[in-house]
Amino acid sequence: MSGVYVVIEDRGGRITRLSWEAVAAANILAAQSGAKANAIVIGAQTDTIAQETATKGVGKVVRIEHPLLAQYTADGFTAALEQFIRAESPDYIVFPHSYQVRDYAPALAARLGRVLIGDVTAIGEGPVFTRSLMQGRLSGQYKSSASGPCFVSVQSGAFRADSAQSAAAEIATFAPTIDAAQIRTKPGEPFRGTTQTVDLGSAPLIVAVGRGIKEADNLPLVQDLASALGAELAASRPICDNGWLPIERQVGSSGQTVAPKLYLAVGISGAIQHLVGMKGSQCIVAINKDAEAPIFEVADYGIVGDLFEVIPALTEAIKTARS
Ligand SMILES: Cc1cc2nc3c(=O)[nH]c(=O)nc-3n(C[C@H](O)[C@H](O)[C@H](O)COP(=O)(O)OP(=O)(O)OC[C@H]3O[C@@H](n4cnc5c(N)ncnc54)[C@H](O)[C@@H]3O)c2cc1C
Repeated sequence: MSGVYVVIEDRGGRITRLSWEAVAAANILAAQSGAKANAIVIGAQTDTIAQETATKGVGKVVRIEHPLLAQYTADGFTAALEQFIRAESPDYIVFPHSYQVRDYAPALAARLGRVLIGDVTAIGEGPVFTRSLMQGRLSGQYKSSASGPCFVSVQSGAFRADSAQSAAAEIATFAPTIDAAQIRTKPGEPFRGTTQTVDLGSAPLIVAVGRGIKEADNLPLVQDLASALGAELAASRPICDNGWLPIERQVGSSGQTVAPKLYLAVGISGAIQHLVGMKGSQCIVAINKDAEAPIFEVADYGIVGDLFEVIPALTEAIKTARS
């Protein structure tokens, strides 16, 4: 392997959590040839994010800089990365599986006549990449069969970001040639959700409620527990489908993907479509009256019991411990 690069993404100058997870994945890949992954930051003024990235355990950081990269456009990012990849010939380019990457990475791979292995959840020796198929019912394993760059994007929550600081790595600059005429789109204002929008993806503690709660009137029970813990409230799909909680609080294949330190699943059976959204959590605690519920297969701790007895007692115990 001659090199693994990972593309860092920022939102308004802040590097995303998903980028750090991609760095962890890229380092797993690079370690197979005894190396560290190198990072790429792209933009018009990348000094600050390059310096931050340089302390996060990467081999080196390359700043791909051009005034026309000040705002994201698929054409600009594709042109800049294509030139860099042709010049450097890395073996693997790893991306966070973000909306932005989904916008331009397939075009980039196509320009180089290569494939993009998207939404990867694990990297094994070989390297072999695993990704979920058919809403998580099956998993497929993929291997790059040709030499030349292989593009890989990693699923949110699948790799654990390493928060350790390291000595600052070397920072290099690559200046692509981009002509304004190459950029066919005019960037608008970046999309911002309404102020109520919940970013469950960056919540450290989540209490998630499922159909076991029986009716909307019982929700204050779990809301109290979430408040006592200082956690965000999330839900399985039926709760959101019923309109008991807004869709932005749904976790799963058609909701958000989360990776908190603690995921407390209350009255959730553990259907595969729910599991794919939360199985990357660091510690999963499940409360369910059915000892055979599939959620217990992914749980670190399980309480088999009636949530209407367990939750008030747990909330009380947490309040007492915190007072
Ligand atoms: C295309 C598609 C996409 C989907 N996307 C999603 C998604 O993004 N997110 C998602 O969550 N689902 C999704 N689903 C739905 C998914 O298949 C399940 O139907 C759903 O996750 C089940 O939600 P649940 O666990 O809350 O309910 P149930 O499966 O009904 O489970 C309720 C659980 O509560 C327990 N329980 C009941 N009473 C009590 C009590 N008193 N105390 C303790 N435990 C109790 C029961 O034992 C049971 O295990 C999707 C389905 C499809 C087909």
